[in-house]
Formats: sequence, C-alpha cells, structure tokens
Amino acid sequence: MAKDELQCSFCGRKKSETNILIAGLEAHICDRCIEQAYSIVMEEAKQETTRELSEELMLRKPKAIKEFLDSYVIGQDKAKKVLSVAVYNHYKRLLQKDDDDATEIQKSNIILVGDTGTGKTLIAQTIARMLNVPIAIVDATVLTEAGYVGEDVETILTRLMQAADYDLEKAQQGIIFIDEIDKIARKSDNPSITRDVSGEGVQQALLKLLEGTIVNVPPKGGRKHPDQKFIEVDTRNILFIAGGAFDGIKRHISNRLNMQAVGYSSSKNGTNLEGENLLKYIIPKDLRDFGLIPEIIGRLPVLTYMNPLDAATLRAILTEPKNALVKQYTKLFAMDHIKLSFTEGALNLIVEKAIAYKLGARGLRSLCEAILTDAMYELPDSDVDALKVTRSYAEKALEKSTIKTLKAAS
Ligand code: ADP
Repeated sequence: MAKDELQCSFCGRKKSETNILIAGLEAHICDRCIEQAYSIVMEEAKQETTRELSEELMLRKPKAIKEFLDSYVIGQDKAKKVLSVAVYNHYKRLLQKDDDDATEIQKSNIILVGDTGTGKTLIAQTIARMLNVPIAIVDATVLTEAGYVGEDVETILTRLMQAADYDLEKAQQGIIFIDEIDKIARKSDNPSITRDVSGEGVQQALLKLLEGTIVNVPPKGGRKHPDQKFIEVDTRNILFIAGGAFDGIKRHISNRLNMQAVGYSSSKNGTNLEGENLLKYIIPKDLRDFGLIPEIIGRLPVLTYMNPLDAATLRAILTEPKNALVKQYTKLFAMDHIKLSFTEGALNLIVEKAIAYKLGARGLRSLCEAILTDAMYELPDSDVDALKVTRSYAEKALEKSTIKTLKAAS
C-alpha cells in the first residue's frame, strides 16, 4: 500500500478499500459515505414533503371543505358535515409531530351507510379532487383472503399506487374508498367448518390496512407477475372511507328503537318514525349485529348516513352540481354550435321516470342518454343550431329507446 494513499475524509477508508473515491476541493468521499449521506438527505426530504403536503391540505377548514362538497353533491348535509370534520382532523393528525407529547391523535376513517346511488362514492371522489390526493375506489366483494381466488386485499394498495402515478409519498397520503363493505359481513354467528372466504377472513385482512401497517405491494398487482419487485407502502396516513347499503339494517334499527322505548313514537313528542330515514339513528352496534367484526368497526370510528334521494333532490342533481348532467350535455352540443335547452316539463319527466324505474341518480344519466342519442347522432351533420327538449320530445324519444329494459336489469 502506498504511504500517501488517498482516503475518505468522512470514514477514513483508504482508496483501496473503496469502490470509488471522489475528490472534492480539499477532501474525498467514498461510495459508502455517499450512500449513507444520500439516505439521510432522502429521509429528511421525505419528512419535509409529508409536512408540506399536510400543511397544504390543512389550508381548508371544515366549512370550506363542506362548501366545496356542496358544489358537487346535492343534499346529504349531515354526511358532508361529518366528513368535512373527519377530513380536517385527518390532516391535522398528519401534522402532529412525533415528539409533541403523549396525546396521539387517532385516524378518523369513515363509514358511510346509505342506499346505492345516493352519492357515497361521489363524496369520496369529491374530497379527493378537492385535496388533490390520489383515490382508489375498490369493491369489497372482489376481495378475498390471500391465497384464495379473487383479489388479495393488498391489491387495493396497488390501485392507489397506480392512481398516484407510482409516487409513494402521494399514495401514502391518499384516500381509499371501499364500496360494499356490508357484503363482507359475517354471514352467521356460527363460524362454519368451511372457511368463510368472503366474510370474516377478508375483514381480518382489511383490519391490518386500516390499523396502519407496512404492506409489500406488487406494483402491477395480482399473482401474474411473480418477478416484480415489491414496494413497501405504509398505510398509517391513508384515509379510508367505507360505504355500504346494509340491506335490512333499517328494520333492525327500528326494532332496536322500539325495544328501547316501547311506544317510541309517543316518547318523541308524538312524531312517528314512519317516513323518517331510520339510518339517522344508526349506531356502531347495528353494524356489529349486521356482521362486521368489532375491530373493523373500531377502526372506522366516524359513522354517518346518507338520505334517500327524493324527487326534489333528483331534480336538483340534474342541473345544480358543477358538473351537472344538463351542463355536460349543453357543453357537448355547444361544441357542435348547437344551443341545447330543456323545458321544466322535460326535466320533471326524467325525474319521474328515474323514480318509476327505481334507477335513482344513476338512472338520470341513462335517461338523458336515451333522450338525446338520436339528436347527438343526427344534428352534428345538420344546420340545426338549437334543440329544445320538451316533455313530449322526451316522451317520444324514451318510447323509441330501450330504456325500459334497464328497469328489468336494475
Ligand atoms: P353510491 O356510491 O352511493 O352507490 P354514487 O356516488 O356512485 O352512489 O352515485 C351514482 C351517481 O349518481 C353519481 O355519479 C352522481 O352523478 C349521482 N349522484 C348520486 N347522489 C348524488 C348527489 N347527492 N348529488 C349529486 N349527484 C349524485
């Protein structure tokens, strides 16, 4: 070894003991020290990004969050309010410093109970849009325990990574909406000999994600790519929103209320529960009786409900939200220089049909499509520059269409 062999100014290793020794002005650094320094820089940067992201997200107070939701989601005031607070608290939690004090703010994962088509997914999507965070929307019914045919619970995170364009930091602050959570309820109180693949086992697997854990996620998902490198995703700061219709739970709530106070209607100043949205009275125990395990319920501490959509709400959904259907079609026609308008009668007809066919808000779109398809086909080639959709125009168009078959399909 040469007497005056160069050495790393940080760790003192001789040049011959390193793979690479890089020279600076008056110092040298070896490959190992570079790697170590790099990981320190990355760790710092990570903490900084997490803080910056959360600070940015925290700029909106609950009232502003609710206002944003108001411009996309009609009605559902209670749910919007509860969610605004939960989201605000969630990002406050992300801002808390590890060394603050012993009070650890727990996650405010949310469970939304309400009929299908009442806007549960829409609310979750709108929150993600407002916060500019990635969102993965997954259906609990396709999930199974690892090893069973279907999707492993981990693939939820693959979806979130995809939604985040594979930016790990972003994904780790994203939102996961789990739809149809009620479908993985335990089927009976008596665990059968055959394993309950779709029920409790999936709940157990989900629990880990909700609690906050580090999961090895196959970025491309599935078991089809066994060679892919796993990404470690930390779920601690992911906000989970679960949704479900919980068919039959209203009867359960009603029974409970009647048991609690015999003659409940009289105890509530003579108001009768009939006609009321019983989901208003939902409590965690109802979910438990339905078949969700207590641990899952505990990890979804914010429980709220959706109201069924009545005619007035459906009518408002047609025209009021920022991206209301009528606004969307008007824009589509305007691109062909055609001024589209609907009479009040036509809009009412759409609402009536949506109710009659039990299609809910989702049906509004199919109905509009059925009414406008012919016009969208014919008019771009014509010199027509305006289309006024009246009730009778809409009626005739629906007569011709196959929309009625939707009723059977729904
Ligand atoms: P859910 O998740 O409860 O089954 P969705 O959020 O998927 O229902 O709603 C289906 C569609 O109906 C949405 O894309 C939206 O266009 C419309 N919709 C439902 N509820 C509302 C609402 N409260 N405000 C505005 N649009 C709504």
